[in-house]
Amino acid sequence: MAKHKTHHEECDILVVGGGMAGTGATFEARHWGRDLKIICVEKANIDRSGAVAQGLYAINCYMGMQWNENQPEDHVRYARNDLMGLVREDLGYDMARHVDSTVHMFDEWGLPMMKNPKTGRYQREGKWQIMIHGESYKPIVAEAAKKSADKIYNRIMITHLLMDENNENRVGGAVGFNMRTGDYYVFRAKTVIVAAGGASHIFKPRAVGEGMGRTWYAPWSNGSAYALPIAAGAKMTQMENRIVLCRFKDGYGPVGAYFLHLKTYTQNANGENYEKKWYEHTKKLVGEYIDHHPTPTCLRNHAFVQEVMAGGGPIQMVTKEAFQDPHLETVGWENFLGMTVGQAVVWASQNIDPKYTNPELTTSEPYVMGSHATCSGAWVSGPEDISPPEYFWGYNRMMTIQGLFGAGDTVGGSAHKFSSGSFTEGRLAAKAAVKYIEDQKSKDIKVSEEQCENFKNIIYKPLENYTVGRNEITGGTVSPSYFSPIQGLQRLQKIMDEYVGGISVNYMTNGNLLKKGLELLEWLQEDLEHIGAEDYHQLMRAWELKHRAITSQCVTEHTLFREETRWPGYYYRGDHMNLDDKNWHCLTVSRRDPKTGKFTMEKMPVYHIIGDKEKKKAS
Ligand SMILES: Cc1cc2nc3c(=O)[nH]c(=O)nc-3n(C[C@H](O)[C@H](O)[C@H](O)COP(=O)(O)OP(=O)(O)OC[C@H]3O[C@@H](n4cnc5c(N)ncnc54)[C@H](O)[C@@H]3O)c2cc1C
Repeated sequence: MAKHKTHHEECDILVVGGGMAGTGATFEARHWGRDLKIICVEKANIDRSGAVAQGLYAINCYMGMQWNENQPEDHVRYARNDLMGLVREDLGYDMARHVDSTVHMFDEWGLPMMKNPKTGRYQREGKWQIMIHGESYKPIVAEAAKKSADKIYNRIMITHLLMDENNENRVGGAVGFNMRTGDYYVFRAKTVIVAAGGASHIFKPRAVGEGMGRTWYAPWSNGSAYALPIAAGAKMTQMENRIVLCRFKDGYGPVGAYFLHLKTYTQNANGENYEKKWYEHTKKLVGEYIDHHPTPTCLRNHAFVQEVMAGGGPIQMVTKEAFQDPHLETVGWENFLGMTVGQAVVWASQNIDPKYTNPELTTSEPYVMGSHATCSGAWVSGPEDISPPEYFWGYNRMMTIQGLFGAGDTVGGSAHKFSSGSFTEGRLAAKAAVKYIEDQKSKDIKVSEEQCENFKNIIYKPLENYTVGRNEITGGTVSPSYFSPIQGLQRLQKIMDEYVGGISVNYMTNGNLLKKGLELLEWLQEDLEHIGAEDYHQLMRAWELKHRAITSQCVTEHTLFREETRWPGYYYRGDHMNLDDKNWHCLTVSRRDPKTGKFTMEKMPVYHIIGDKEKKKAS
């Protein structure tokens, strides 16, 4: 390992991932910790990294409290309804009460916001969304982080957390490697904020072969946000709550602006409103939840999936009417140009002009994330003023490991944060991390050279596996003693797809399938010791796969534990097809023992802190 130079850094706050939450954390850490040393480490380059890399057309979470448009309580009710009753209301409320201030800063920093010419307010796309010219969104927030951090490290993938040798439940930093130089990096830190995004490519994607990489969620989001804390023994929540998106077919172009602003609607191949057809059927599965307004995202997916299975496809978005209006036509195209250029290219290649042809929609492969219409992620402490005792252990957004914080997709239980809410949650986590340091909670952390050297050996092993094993290959790429990251990825995706409820089984699974899936995932873990990497890029692919694999184990354990179908349209437990509020109106929480690799599961209560109707402050 001598050939890989080791760099040592010491800091107060280490931010892992410089996406929306990571830039928010880096910025806010400087505000509260003027003299602290703050480092942000990013796998790509923070100017164009994360889910917002290509830009966005709307900020999906803005209350508009200054104009009394919405209050944080309203947002909690909205997220609770969309997630079929199960959210951490303390976290959602805390994010919502701060999110407007974040958006106002984006405005000050030069993000072009669309304004309503009549009212002068931000142009609403929907109740929660405001419209932006957001191609430059990510470089703008990256600028704020760059000005705040002592150092930003780009192109370093963090692979493991360092743990305090004086207190096995306290974090001591993180390690990783530079994907361009191959150098090894040790970051000793008093606190770590994990903000490494969600997970795509753990389930087999619809686009395979030469189309591989075309996914809805960012293809480079590989579940490090979950794998890092899971491997260290942090508790996770709602990991079964994977998300499936209804999007334009093949390009995964967004539909939000089409529904909300262009007022387009969907129909089946016969021009029928198919959602109505599945009302009674859905009511039998989930009861009164189907009568909620707005209809929960998963239930709309459910009607789509059922209709396609019943032979009513393809499902189309009716664009032909709206696109007759030149203004709406422009908005429809611009919507892609600022965020998903690929969709416009797909339509061009398939000769689809939405003015004359209603484009097809699809339901995506499942993704794991904590900031969209889903809330998988780490089990964290809430804020001291509103969290009940089970949800509070001292520092806002701190995981069950001391000094380890999370934000954005990393944090579970709090859905519908989106870009602005993730940035906001990064700010909240950073403020709490500064307090943790000020309270002297990070004294006497011991991280020995031995711990760092051990990780170094582990990290570079795939290079060694390749160097030794390649000599046994006489032709092609199949080796008797190692396998490549792409081979391992396809094996993982097949297991998750067929056993844990992916696209090829129409999102259906059951207890027996899940147990078999767990067995196969365990064997995959054994084989991952033999993964080979021919260069530093493949070394990154190897570690991305390892992080995806451990995230997948956690998702499967959670899916097995929850014996009901809470979110039809996201996935189905064929052996428990009904929503079961009597036994499962609760949050699921897991912990993987770092020594044995075994998971334990428990139920945690859901507290409805916010009342149903009246706009009162939570108590
Ligand atoms: C297709 C799509 C469309 C969306 N549309 C909208 C929209 O219109 N409006 C809206 O408000 N929100 C939208 N969102 C949601 C928004 O993008 C996310 O909520 C937000 O980006 C989540 O922030 P995050 O920081 O958790 O993750 P990200 O912003 O994805 O950042 C994670 C960062 O961590 C880095 N990273 C990952 N692993 C490692 C590692 N091991 N070491 C170092 N760095 C690592 C990544 O490179 C990345 O930069 C959309 C998301 C997607 C995918």
